[in-house]
Amino acid sequence: MRSHYCGSINESHIGQEITLCGWVHHRRDHGGVIFLDLRDRDGIAQVVVDPDTPEAFALADRARNEFVIQVKGRVRNRPEGTVNPDMPTGAVEVLGKELEILSKSDTPPFPLDEFVEVGEDVRLRFRYMDLRRPEMLNKLRTRSKITSYIRNFLDAEGFMDVETPILNRATPEGARDYLVPSRTHEGHFFALPQSPQLFKQLLMVSGIDRYYQIAKCFRDEDLRADRQPEFTQVDIETSFMDEDAIMAVTERMIREMFKDLLDVELPQFPRMTFAEAMQRFGSDKPDLRIPLELVDVDDLLEDVEFKVFSGPANDAKSRVAALRLPNGSVLSRKQIDDYTKYVAIYGAKGLAYIKVNDIEKGVEGLQSPILKFIPAEAAMSILSRVGAENGDLVFFGADKSTVVNEALGALRVKLGNDLDMYTYEWAPCWVIDFPMFEENGEGGWTAIHHPFTSPSCSVEELRTDPEHALSRAYDMVLNGTELGGGSIRIHDAEMQATVLEVLGISKEEADEKFGFLLNALKYGCPPHGGLAFGLDRLVMLMTGSNSIREVIAFPKTQSATCLMTQAPGTVDSRQLRELNIRIRKKESAG
Ligand code: ASP
Repeated sequence: MRSHYCGSINESHIGQEITLCGWVHHRRDHGGVIFLDLRDRDGIAQVVVDPDTPEAFALADRARNEFVIQVKGRVRNRPEGTVNPDMPTGAVEVLGKELEILSKSDTPPFPLDEFVEVGEDVRLRFRYMDLRRPEMLNKLRTRSKITSYIRNFLDAEGFMDVETPILNRATPEGARDYLVPSRTHEGHFFALPQSPQLFKQLLMVSGIDRYYQIAKCFRDEDLRADRQPEFTQVDIETSFMDEDAIMAVTERMIREMFKDLLDVELPQFPRMTFAEAMQRFGSDKPDLRIPLELVDVDDLLEDVEFKVFSGPANDAKSRVAALRLPNGSVLSRKQIDDYTKYVAIYGAKGLAYIKVNDIEKGVEGLQSPILKFIPAEAAMSILSRVGAENGDLVFFGADKSTVVNEALGALRVKLGNDLDMYTYEWAPCWVIDFPMFEENGEGGWTAIHHPFTSPSCSVEELRTDPEHALSRAYDMVLNGTELGGGSIRIHDAEMQATVLEVLGISKEEADEKFGFLLNALKYGCPPHGGLAFGLDRLVMLMTGSNSIREVIAFPKTQSATCLMTQAPGTVDSRQLRELNIRIRKKESAG
């Protein structure tokens, strides 16, 4: 139906008869001549229709924004003085001779020919219109380029794309499963995959050697942060490769892709242990663009009378950390109060600080509500340890280590963002040497990565000291976002049994839930490991978007609904009967 895309015409087409199809982006009637800006996914071309072609003119007169039309005409130079250097097609226009209205449009729910702030709910309800906006189209285009790049790269490295099932048994990956009732097996349910983890490991047992899949994954979590109930992973697994080799190939893929698609040279990714990341940045996904660090000062406050500090300073599971903000004394009381409220979200009971006015004057030159509680000597030692200078502000966190890390870690990122302190545009890193387990709050342990991750210690060490066991897991982090995570897996039945034992998963439960994997370990399982990238987050970062919803064609809301299709919806009683399901009425209050 068309000879060219609107966005592709330029001076090389002058004099040619062409046919364009697209949407009327904007229509202007200049007394006797009608200008139509015609838009397709490639761009916008200006079409001029004059009364010399009365039929076309009458149709152009009836056309409205977002009508779909076909135009046949000749490309010509725009008259002098009307060239638009900001438009790729701005030097030319099409003199429209024949015009056909292919489809009409009601008045759009929001204008597309000018930029207006539109509420996200309206955008999601009319997502098909929202996606017409060039910035949204561009995001999808970049997403497509990213997935092609990844496929080409992995294909060239000998990876095989294998699909794994969507209808599964529940896997023990920590999040809540989405369940699908079985019609043929009354009372039984499939679970949608939280990731293809067990299948990709089984593919290694089968000898596939190098696998990848761009896989949809489903997790029924409370969507506090920027999460989606269904999201996409670039899922990778390899045999006979250790963590260094896996990190090397995946890092190379990301670096080459940034160079190719964004012309960005990422530096080599530094590696940092989990312990160091927590200690210095309070986070296992440190944003290394921000030049602020947490500094331990426990030892300087062990003996002070002020319990708020001495309590945590003397407790092995707590910490007292200082965060120096250069030139921070410009912050107003109100700003400090706001930051105090902010850290409260992470459980901090307060946000102590010292303002450094004139360090030469000792404590006299300081300003702080806590100075009356701690000896001058301790205060000065802290300032010297963090390298404080005049004009600085030093914040403190004193609590359980988890609270201090979360609160000061988040404060660090917020300060960096609010005060625009970024020193690099891109700061990637690997975080390695994660602990195997964390306390589950009920006196037991949960796996930090997943139960199939290999520890870096022996079976005996794991059994006797699970708290200090490290895993062979690694996360790729970019600008404070976890891009991907993976691990070397357990390929030894005894080690797998020990991990399950530490996790308190009985043999019966393990056999019932994933006995097939445990069995497979008995039939010649190669050493293997892999990693999964969160594609949505990767695209979000690469397109400079501020939410993953911006880079998913049809995303769900924070409460896991689709505003456009109204999913989830009710189903009729026949369908429910077939599934042997009866809906229990919610008991009405009162
Ligand atoms: N399956 C893991 C996840 O979804 C990634 C991996 O270990 O490869 O986090």
